[in-house]
Amino acid sequence: MVLLVILAFLLIIALLLLLGLYRAKTKASRSLVLSLKAELEGMVAELSRRAEQAEAESRRINAILNGMSEAVLAVDSKLILYLANPRAQSLFGPGSAEKISLLAATRSTELENIARRVLAEGRSLEVELSLWAGFAHTRTEQRFQAFAAPIPAGVVIVMEDITRLAKLEQVRKDFIANVSHELRTPIQLIKGYSETMLDSPDTMGPYRRCMEVIYKNALTMENLTNDLLVLSNLENAGNDRLDLSGMMEEQALAPLITEAALSVEPQAKKKNITVHISCPADLKATVHGSFIIQALINLLENGVKYSPKKTALWVSAYSEHDHVVLAVKDEGMGIPPEHLERIFERFYRVDRAHNRETGGTGLGLSIVRHIALIHNGTTEVESHAGEGSVFRIKIAR
Ligand code: ADP
Repeated sequence: MVLLVILAFLLIIALLLLLGLYRAKTKASRSLVLSLKAELEGMVAELSRRAEQAEAESRRINAILNGMSEAVLAVDSKLILYLANPRAQSLFGPGSAEKISLLAATRSTELENIARRVLAEGRSLEVELSLWAGFAHTRTEQRFQAFAAPIPAGVVIVMEDITRLAKLEQVRKDFIANVSHELRTPIQLIKGYSETMLDSPDTMGPYRRCMEVIYKNALTMENLTNDLLVLSNLENAGNDRLDLSGMMEEQALAPLITEAALSVEPQAKKKNITVHISCPADLKATVHGSFIIQALINLLENGVKYSPKKTALWVSAYSEHDHVVLAVKDEGMGIPPEHLERIFERFYRVDRAHNRETGGTGLGLSIVRHIALIHNGTTEVESHAGEGSVFRIKIAR
C-alpha cells in the first residue's frame, strides 16, 4: 500500500514535470515563429521596396531613352537588336523594334562593321558615317556621328544626326573655295599691272612707293587665296578618304625631301641660310607625295622667314617605333611657350606686325596639320624663344 502511494506520488511529479517542460517548449517555439514571421515580413517589404525602386529606375531610363534626340540601339554579342529607342525606330522603321540583326534593321554594313570591331576590341569607337534613313518614300541619305561602346555581352550604339551641320560645313567650304577662286583673277591683274609700273622708269618718286605697297599687298593676297584653295582641297580630300586612298602610294621619302629643299633654296640663299638634308635612301612610307612636299615646303619657308641671316636649316626623315618622322629644324627666333598650343590654328600668328612684313598668311601650319591628318598622322612643335624650333610630322608606316 505504501509502495502504491509512493508510486502514485512519483507519477504525479513526473506528470507535472512533463507538463512544465511542454509549456516551456511551446513558449519558445511560439517566440521562434513570431520572430521568423517578423523577419519574413521585413524581407517582403524590402523586396517590394527594391522592386519599386527598380521599376522607377527603369521608368526613368525609358523616359530618357524615349526623350532622346539621338538614336540608341543595343545589340547582343550576335549583333541581334534587343533595344531601339523611338528615335531609332523612326530612322530605321518599326522593324527595328523586333529582335532582328543590326544589318537587317539599319541596312548599313558600315554600322555592322563598327559594332563587330567594338565587340572584338572591347573598346569604344566614334565615327562619322552616312546612311539611308527614314520610311519608304521619305528615305534620304543622312549623316551621323555614331558612338559605339561595349556593354556586358553586347554593344550600345548612340547616333546623332549631323546632316544639317554637315551641309552647313560643306556650304562654308564651298564658299571659301569659290571666293578664293573668284579673287584670283583680279589679284593677278593688280599684281601684274603694279609689277609693270614698277619696271617702268616713268614711275618715280612718291608713286613708286605707292606701287611698291600695292605690289606687296597683291602678293600677300595671292598667297592667301592660294593657301585657302589648298586648305579647301585638303578638307575635301579628308572627307573623301576613298578617293584619297587611290592617291596614296608607298614611296621613298628622300626624293620628296630633296624636292621640297630645292624649292626653298632661292629664298634661303637670299638670307645666306644653308639647308641640310638627311634621310636614309631606303626609308619608305605610304604617302600622298605632293601633299608631303607641300607640308615640308611650308615648314622650310617658315624656317627661312623666321630665322636670321647666316643660320642653318635641317630637313630630315627617320623611322621611330612604328611610324615615320619628318622634321624641320631651324636656328631662328623660336616661339614663346604661350603660343605653342595654338600655333597650328588657322590665321594664328605670334607677331602680326612682323607677319605683315614677311607676307605670312597664318595658314601655312594649318595646311601642314591637315596634311598630317590626311595621313592619319600628327604634328608637333618644340621651340625655345631665341634658340630655334623643330616641327615634326609623324605618320604611321
Ligand atoms: P605664316 O604664314 O604667318 O607663317 P603659319 O601658319 O605658317 O603662318 O605660322 C603661324 C605663325 O607661327 C607664324 O606667324 C609665326 O609667328 C609662327 N611660326 C611658324 N613657324 C615658325 C618658326 N619656324 N619659327 C618661329 N615662328 C614660327
